[in-house]
Amino acid sequence: MRKFHTLADLRDWKPGPIRLGLLGDPVAHSLSPEMQNAALAECGFAPRYARFRILPNELGEALRLCAERDFIGVNLTVPHKVAGFALVEVEDQFARQAGAINTIRFEEGKLFGTNTDGPGFVRAIRESFNVELRDLRVLVLGAGGGAGQAVAATCALAGCPALTLVNRDFTKAQTLAARFPHRQILAVPWEATSLGKALAQTDLIVHATPLGLQPNDPAPLPCELLAPCHLTYDLNYGPTAFLAAAREAGARAASGLTMLLHQGALAFEFWFDRPAPLAVMRRALGF
Ligand code: NAP
Repeated sequence: MRKFHTLADLRDWKPGPIRLGLLGDPVAHSLSPEMQNAALAECGFAPRYARFRILPNELGEALRLCAERDFIGVNLTVPHKVAGFALVEVEDQFARQAGAINTIRFEEGKLFGTNTDGPGFVRAIRESFNVELRDLRVLVLGAGGGAGQAVAATCALAGCPALTLVNRDFTKAQTLAARFPHRQILAVPWEATSLGKALAQTDLIVHATPLGLQPNDPAPLPCELLAPCHLTYDLNYGPTAFLAAAREAGARAASGLTMLLHQGALAFEFWFDRPAPLAVMRRALGF
């Protein structure tokens, strides 16, 4: 299988088994094709899932072409989750609250969107730490991105007792906090003193930026702000500087593999309206 296809390929598309895919940039590292193709094979379905490197200004045309070429559905990843929201009919309340989608189903020329990142995240926290998200005081680093917004909205809707939003562009954290005025949500600047105060009253720290994926990236926060009582969850599923810092501080740490699995299983169910073969998908991800 090719590492990824492009918009030029979609323009010149020949009908074939690929009728599902991941649209984003970068996509080459994604494990979604391994997971979804294992699920499709297990269910005896002929369609296959592939990666598409699609730039921000190409998303509208790419979605139109997928619909015209009889695709069943797609997932959206960085940087399309927020932009994609405006291009589809959104069915569920959670995606509307998040202002972001990660899954689209094509049906008779129409595009229906949903967000499986949020429900997938709830299941991932339960599986990784054997706790319920609704019982935790949560801090989200990178709350302004598509995935960060989904996590923040999930925590707000789950009724977490406290939620702190941190983002490099502080105005995005403030705007997001204002979207849930009836909840205890605080936007905090990304600097050591403010972070230290907030982390002293946090159970779960969620890292939702791509920082740390490149070998020379710094950790997103100083290691000394982390403590053994913290649960730390990195949405990224490579070894990251954040997880290394968390383990060094004695905190419990989990990578985004569990979220990848559960959001993918829910996407599969959105496309095919049947239960996903979870054990097979998990095995394809290697855990
Ligand atoms: P996105 O929409 O592009 O958002 C990126 C976020 O990271 C923004 O908050 C951005 O802050 C911040 N950021 C980017 N570079 C930064 C830097 N150098 N320093 C500080 N903050 C920085 O991306 P996304 O879709 O939310 O994805 C974020 C990460 O989560 C990706 O690495 C993705 O692979 C991962 N993810 C994993 C799963 C899973 O299933 N495990 C699901 C979704 C996403 P600004 O707002 O200031 O630009």
